Amino acid sequence: MSFKSSYLAEVYDNVVRVNPGEPEFHQAVREVLESLEPVIEQRPELVKAGILERMVEPERSIRFRVSWVDDSGKVQVNRGYRFQFNSAIGPYKGGLRLHPSVNASILKFLGFEQVFKNSLTGLPMGGAKGGSDFDPKGKSDAEVMRFCQAFMTELYRHIGPDTDVPAGDIGTGAREIGYMFGQYKKIMNEYTGVLTGKSLSYGGSLARKEATGYGLCYFTDELLRDNGLSFEGMITVISGSGNVAIYACEKATLFGAKVVALSDSNGYIYDKNGINLDVVKQIKEVERGRISEYADRVPGSVYTPGCSGIWSIPCDIALPCATQNEINAESAALLVKNGVKAVCEGANMPSTPEAIETFQKNGVFFGPAKAANAGGVATSGLEMSQNSLRLSWTFEEVDEKLCGIMKNIYKNASDAAKEFGMAGNLVAGANIAGFMKVADAMMWQGI
Ligand code: NDP
Repeated sequence: MSFKSSYLAEVYDNVVRVNPGEPEFHQAVREVLESLEPVIEQRPELVKAGILERMVEPERSIRFRVSWVDDSGKVQVNRGYRFQFNSAIGPYKGGLRLHPSVNASILKFLGFEQVFKNSLTGLPMGGAKGGSDFDPKGKSDAEVMRFCQAFMTELYRHIGPDTDVPAGDIGTGAREIGYMFGQYKKIMNEYTGVLTGKSLSYGGSLARKEATGYGLCYFTDELLRDNGLSFEGMITVISGSGNVAIYACEKATLFGAKVVALSDSNGYIYDKNGINLDVVKQIKEVERGRISEYADRVPGSVYTPGCSGIWSIPCDIALPCATQNEINAESAALLVKNGVKAVCEGANMPSTPEAIETFQKNGVFFGPAKAANAGGVATSGLEMSQNSLRLSWTFEEVDEKLCGIMKNIYKNASDAAKEFGMAGNLVAGANIAGFMKVADAMMWQGI
């Protein structure tokens, strides 16, 4: 798709020009700008106020050296980042990714998307993203701790409970958040809710661990019901086997779906009898092992090396929960050919633009990441509220609020799509609904 509006084309071309070599960031900006064509036509004052030009430029970009000592005594150096994109509707909020693939392009795409996602939750949170090219895989606990302490020794000066509240993402789980929190507390000599995704013993929220996966299923359930379908009896394929994938598998199964596949970056498992999640949790959460081990433990299941093959498994529902651009046009065509009815994104930007077009052209119900995976950050917002109030809600209380938020996100995205003449297009609906609130706040606050 190309831009009809020369103004939007100009904004996009400028993003490409001033952010060279950052394809993921360009991709995320293009998708949002394309959705905003009708809004810009209706609201010329947004053009005059330079709202879009401001939104595509982070308010603050931070890049720093992280030096730490490995177990053999050798000094290692990684690069750390935090992109604080937009604080119009609240303190910056967004995860920290620890993965060797991390670079400025990936974190800027994630930070940009986070602004719209956080707005969609209805909670007062701005958008940011950060992380490092450090790979926690294969490192000892002591090495992970030393890295996290070194990372926070720089990051602490840029964050705070009313400034920027980072959370987990790929490679950053409760262990890493704990070490970072400990270091922040030591440096600042204060006990605040500066990070979310904390363990329950020191300010974490019940249901945060489950929130992104559960939220994805609440959103998907709403989308299916709105179209006369449900999870009941649906063959479901989920990529990844990390935090999002595991709890999406749990909730989809509770809703009556049969989840038959999961993956990691080496390959995927297929279990025609339905995934035994206890075995997956033991391998991934307790032993930090590889998904291939599932096939050694569960008779009748099969492991296949290589991750993209997972999309050749015939299914009714696909929930990509691993990483960006994991479904390309070819995989999307295969899913369509095999009769997929709905695709909802647990990971951030897992479908390429060509894949999304394939789904939309073929009448597949499509839930974009910004809306479908917002349950994680929404529950992080609830963790912030509990920390500020100095109290803890029960699992049921948090889960009920999460479910309400996800239903609301679906309704707002669906209504916005209808209002702008694109009924059923949740990509456009989510972008527009998320954009409106942030744009209005920016208009009120001046430049
Ligand atoms: P985890 O680190 O817990 O799990 C990530 C999973 O994806 C692992 O199975 C991992 O396999 C796999 N994976 C990672 N990189 C690749 C790759 N390049 N190719 C194939 N598989 C890969 O992360 P999360 O579950 O937290 O995050 C998954 C996705 O969901 C990300 O896109 C994240 O941004 C998004 N997300 C997460 C939220 C959260 O609350 N955690 C909130 C909203 C979005 P391996 O172990 O082999 O690396």
